[in-house]
Amino acid sequence: MNVQITHLINSDKKIHAVVEKCIQCGTCSASCPLNQYMDYTPRQLIALVREGMIDEALKSRTSWLCSTCYLCAVRCPVKINIGDFMTSLKRYAIKNGYSDNLPYSKLTKTYVDLVNKYGRISETKLIITFSLKTNPLKLLKMLPLSAKLLREGILSLSLEKVKNIQEIRT
Ligand code: SF4
Ligand code: SF4
Repeated sequence: MNVQITHLINSDKKIHAVVEKCIQCGTCSASCPLNQYMDYTPRQLIALVREGMIDEALKSRTSWLCSTCYLCAVRCPVKINIGDFMTSLKRYAIKNGYSDNLPYSKLTKTYVDLVNKYGRISETKLIITFSLKTNPLKLLKMLPLSAKLLREGILSLSLEKVKNIQEIRT
């Protein structure tokens, strides 16, 4: 276990508040539309942090799958904002190299890079850039369908920058 990160997370006010307040009722896990894809449910992830199993929590794919839809937060009996908890964990995972080899974090980074550069994303650019970083062979497999969609104008390779991009970056 990385003692320094454990200390950082335990001293994080937002995370600390979640861990303190959670009564482990499981409403969040039952409400989460993505729970079937997670290795730990939201309730279990909170329990891991509470028990000091920070490595395990930061290696988990749960926070990366969280879409911050806040359905769990609306239903939580003690009003815990689990989406923000997930975002905080992701931030620690990125800063401390836990996410380097995870496809989810690469997808998120690709998304953010495109928004920073153009102020918006295009599905075509997102898929191409992400696939080049992770599995270029996948692009070859998608080529016939992509060519058809490009021909029919359903996909486009062009992506115009929005005006006032600095406002988006801010
Ligand atoms: S719904 Fe709230 S109190 Fe219940 S397990 Fe989830 S975070 Fe904890
Ligand atoms: S905010 Fe995240 S954890 Fe909560 S229900 Fe939505 S996807 Fe699930």
